[in-house]
Amino acid sequence: MTISTTISNYIGGSFVPARSGEWGENLNPATAEVINRFPRSGAEDVSAAVDAAEQALVGEFGEWGAERRAVLLEAVATAIESRLHEFARAESQDTGKPVSLAARMDIPRACENFRFFAGAIRHQSTDCHTTGPMGGGALNYTLRRPVGIAGLITPWNLPLYLLSWKVAPALAMGNAVIAKPSELSPTTAALLAEVFEDVGVPRGVFNLVFGFGPEVGQALVEHPRVGLISFTGGTQTGKQVAVSAAPHFKKVSLELGGKNPTVVFADADFNAAVETAVRAAFTNQGEICLCGSRILIEASLYDRFEAAFVERVRGLTVGDPAEEETELGALISLAHREKVEAFVQLARDEGGRVLCGGGRPCLEGKLAKGAFLEPTVIGGLASTCRAATEEIFGPVVTLHSFTTEEEALKKANGVRYGLSASVWTRDLNRAHRFSARLETGMVWVNTWLLRDLRVPFGGTKDSGVGREGGRNSLEFYSESRNVCVKL
Ligand code: NAD
Repeated sequence: MTISTTISNYIGGSFVPARSGEWGENLNPATAEVINRFPRSGAEDVSAAVDAAEQALVGEFGEWGAERRAVLLEAVATAIESRLHEFARAESQDTGKPVSLAARMDIPRACENFRFFAGAIRHQSTDCHTTGPMGGGALNYTLRRPVGIAGLITPWNLPLYLLSWKVAPALAMGNAVIAKPSELSPTTAALLAEVFEDVGVPRGVFNLVFGFGPEVGQALVEHPRVGLISFTGGTQTGKQVAVSAAPHFKKVSLELGGKNPTVVFADADFNAAVETAVRAAFTNQGEICLCGSRILIEASLYDRFEAAFVERVRGLTVGDPAEEETELGALISLAHREKVEAFVQLARDEGGRVLCGGGRPCLEGKLAKGAFLEPTVIGGLASTCRAATEEIFGPVVTLHSFTTEEEALKKANGVRYGLSASVWTRDLNRAHRFSARLETGMVWVNTWLLRDLRVPFGGTKDSGVGREGGRNSLEFYSESRNVCVKL
């Protein structure tokens, strides 16, 4: 098997291999073919990137005002847009997701992130407090300064989208960044480096180091001159990142796993609830942290909902990610498929009934070796069992019934995660009451994944620490400094 291309680190404005000279291989999970190889970076590469970033901060970029940074971010958005299909194809090949999804969601949303934070920084204001009688004692105003070097670590499920969610606000606030994308999906980050180079970013402002988490990711978290870590990934890795960052007193944001409930009350708009619950469960093969992977249904509606839901899931098209009509592509890797299949077996062992799916679809040619799995619906499980409470992160959903609002709440909150929830009811009072008592960072009522980039994004419990989005991001990627002037 020949390696078609080689991608490089981007450090101090140069495309370079890892100092070690070693490489990792990036596979297409739909065909098991090698797409490209990436630098297997380590601590030395991180140190070089830190030096470059420090140079950038004392160079011309450090003098740039908000307007100039906004113009840079807009230029990046426009440049990605002009290569949309190339980006979408790369994202699909790296992750196995349908190219149509990448072209409709991942890449346009990445562009929106750059544009949004360009706008946000233009409209940003700072606080001012007047102190003393009639405010005549002192004037307090709060400056927002860049933290310095931001270490940005991202997962494989929404590679460019989540990277841009961090890079855009970090640069908007005047930081230099060192990004470490997932070793399973490096290609769109490499394309992003080309874009930054093309739009003329000053050297060292945007740096990219590829490689494996425990090697280069860990080195980035531990580097004493990286002042901030924004991490999105699994809960277990997040714990490790928190431990490694703590002795350095870094600013840390952790966006971690989820096991999100879709709660359907009997008075819900039935068709909309079924349609959206299917989308929430299986978009991106169920590999979105916000996916609704357990559906709680009011008992009086349960049978009707189960029948309609299963019928709709049976109609989903699993297949070649390159085909327009494909709704579910391959999972991220063969190893991940095994993990997901082990959960399906666990669900069976725990007394669950597989209502549809559960097996590997028969695909031919190159796709026969791909990491495909049928969308799987499981009923009959206790809501407390492992398959219904642990994150599977694949196309598997469990159905459960409840009889009272209190029971629904208990089941919804009965997991260690607390990222998001989707609640379906026509009763407005109940919608507000229920949302207020859910232990999640985000609640959607009668919808799912409707995003407004201004709102706080993040989870509670084992789903993470901190919030990003809008003002939260601008604050996270900066240090406030209060100036008190005695009048
Ligand atoms: P992961 O934790 O395995 O890896 C995430 C990133 O961390 C990768 O870049 C990896 O190389 C790096 N990494 C691994 N070990 C490291 C270490 N010791 N130090 C520093 N970096 C290290 O997660 P994944 O499998 O890539 O992604 C799936 C997980 O991400 C799921 O749990 C999913 O729920 C979660 N996720 C959360 C959100 C959110 O916003 N809350 C969004 C997307 C994905």
